[in-house]
Amino acid sequence: MEASLTARDRVGIQDFVLLDPYTSETAFLENLKKRFHENLIYTYIGTLLVSVNPYKDFDIYSKKQMDIYMGVNFFELPPHIYAMADNVFRTMLSEFNNHFILISGESGAGKTEASKKILQFYAVSCPSTKLLNNVRDRLLLSNPVLEAFGNAKTLKNDNSSRFGKYMDIQFDHQGGAVGGHVLSYLLEKSRVVHQNHGERNFHIFYQLVEGGEEDLLRWLGLERNCQHYRYLVQGDCAKVSSINDKSDWRTVRKALSVIEFSENDIEQLFGIIASVLHLGNIKFEANERGYASLNNNNQEMNWVSKLLGIPTQVLQQGLTHRKIEAKAEEVFSPFSVDHAVYARDALAKAIYGRTFNWLVNKINESLVNKDSSRKTVIGLLDIYGFEVFNVNSFEQFCINYCNEKLQQLFIQLTLKSEQEEYEMEGIEWESVPFFNNKIICDLVEEKHRGIISLLDEECLRPGEATDLTFLEKMEEKIAGHPHFVTHKLADQKTRKTLDRGDFRLLHYAGEVTYCVVGFLDKNNDLLYRNGKEVMRQSKNAIIKVCFPSTEPDSKRRPETVVTQFKSSLVGLTEILMSKEPWYVRCIKPNEAKQPGRFDDVLVRHQVKYLGLMEHLRVRRAGFAYRRKYEIFLQRYKALCPDTWPNWKGTAAEGVHCLVKHMGYTPDEYKMGRTKIFIRHPKTLFATEDAFQV
Ligand code: ATP
Ligand code: MG
Repeated sequence: MEASLTARDRVGIQDFVLLDPYTSETAFLENLKKRFHENLIYTYIGTLLVSVNPYKDFDIYSKKQMDIYMGVNFFELPPHIYAMADNVFRTMLSEFNNHFILISGESGAGKTEASKKILQFYAVSCPSTKLLNNVRDRLLLSNPVLEAFGNAKTLKNDNSSRFGKYMDIQFDHQGGAVGGHVLSYLLEKSRVVHQNHGERNFHIFYQLVEGGEEDLLRWLGLERNCQHYRYLVQGDCAKVSSINDKSDWRTVRKALSVIEFSENDIEQLFGIIASVLHLGNIKFEANERGYASLNNNNQEMNWVSKLLGIPTQVLQQGLTHRKIEAKAEEVFSPFSVDHAVYARDALAKAIYGRTFNWLVNKINESLVNKDSSRKTVIGLLDIYGFEVFNVNSFEQFCINYCNEKLQQLFIQLTLKSEQEEYEMEGIEWESVPFFNNKIICDLVEEKHRGIISLLDEECLRPGEATDLTFLEKMEEKIAGHPHFVTHKLADQKTRKTLDRGDFRLLHYAGEVTYCVVGFLDKNNDLLYRNGKEVMRQSKNAIIKVCFPSTEPDSKRRPETVVTQFKSSLVGLTEILMSKEPWYVRCIKPNEAKQPGRFDDVLVRHQVKYLGLMEHLRVRRAGFAYRRKYEIFLQRYKALCPDTWPNWKGTAAEGVHCLVKHMGYTPDEYKMGRTKIFIRHPKTLFATEDAFQV
């Protein structure tokens, strides 16, 4: 007895539901910290998994560990991401329905690592056949490829996801992984042409330059020196100690072949990556009339022309002129040098962004399962985390908005719906108050009044509107909002001053000051029409797909970036709402990315905004498991002679009879209007075990 007390004192409790007193935030933090210092990074709140980033590798993700967790009841072993993965998997198999795992937390908290561990668990431990091994390898290897093209070093995280990723893993009725599908969300394209100090471009550029074979580099006209490329040096940190670009290159190269990229695809793909680098090095000079000009024999332009298969003249004209349609005629108006630089960067972003989408499609083709038999899926959502930098721009605005939406989903599915369900089912319940961030989502996305609408309105007034008129419009329309602060109101609301060109949002996860400079431009994401037309002449097979001649011309305004993003998030919410949710909440223990450091203030802040205390209260007061009477009776009726094989009364009466027979005490369960509620999973496990015998 004493020994077990000591052990518990040392390692803390493994499920916060058992925390005493469970309402104490200090006790919560103490437990998390105690476990963190014992290298125990996982703790449950019921079936929710809290994970604290250790910033060091442990031997807890081996095949042996997977075997230990495979097929064992959730609470019987120490908390682990594998236990969760296994639990989701087995629930899916027994109920034959769809699930998703929402992984959330701020930038650097460990979301991407968590999603990889889950995927590895499924790939390695699910039943497999020779055929399935193929799918398994592709599922696994799609990761390094997507990370190479979609992740980058930021100040928060050396491997920060710069796109949102939702991946469905499809299973057959025996639990074999038979296919998959990836949806990607808003890649941060601006990084291709600009990086803040201490940050890098997407990994793939450095991998190619550092790791590419001599022959390949020669063919692409590249030098083995990142310093040579303007798009790679703005952050002044091409080398990162935690990243080995050379070996990552080999991994990506191998992965591409496994995912069935032909040698031709690979050649074309790196032709594009190299041309982006060459594009970035193109310099314009002002001619005698002050317009942008390019030397006929510009080396960089020649390389782009060769690699993309576009005649030099066409490219040169496209980079220095804009096509205007005047009556029936086509007129080319020359760019100023600044304009040409802008058009060049816009082209580089468009090329990279569209190639990324092509890559995702290509991966999907290789994961597609042609068999039409019914499958169930487990979806993994790993999206860029909430982030705050010294200077925050349009990209942070989109990323943080996305995080608000996910928090809203979490609230809807747990805190809110859970409590509403008790009410609906007539279960006695003392409600738990929580902060609902819907007010912030509305501030951003409400029709006509929200920030997105105001931004789009300004984008419709080219020539007249500027970033500052957008700011003024916000000041006029939403100044009174409790989560919005501008220059004029700064002192009253947050007691901190703001610069004239800034606005501040009080997000659920903390306040963020955004600088409006570039908002209109980035939201418009304008690619001059002849930029597209030039690309349509390309002989490069991937560019041909990315810039199809069937694409409607920009006479009708395309949707703005943020509006497209908003619609894609609505789509994502719909996908998720049709599945059963599970949660991993990731916590970042310190800002220095160091092992062994647990910053109390930082962690307390995350525990607060992630709503963990509220979740615990709801869990503690509530019921871990609930099922419709019909489903419960169907599954367990064989356990009771009165209900087996056919029960004649109502399903509710049948369940009542069944649980009486099983010896459930009144405290263990409640009967609602349509469902049975079971307080602790242990009760259910005992029932399951009886069933297995
Ligand atoms: P972002 O929102 O920026 O994409 P993220 O939440 O996805 O951030 P990760 O990339 O998963 O963060 O984690 C950042 C780094 O922390 C990893 O590269 C790794 O070094 C370390 N890390 C995260 N989780 C673990 C873990 N379970 N074990 C060991 N190291 C980890
Ligand atoms: Mg990530």
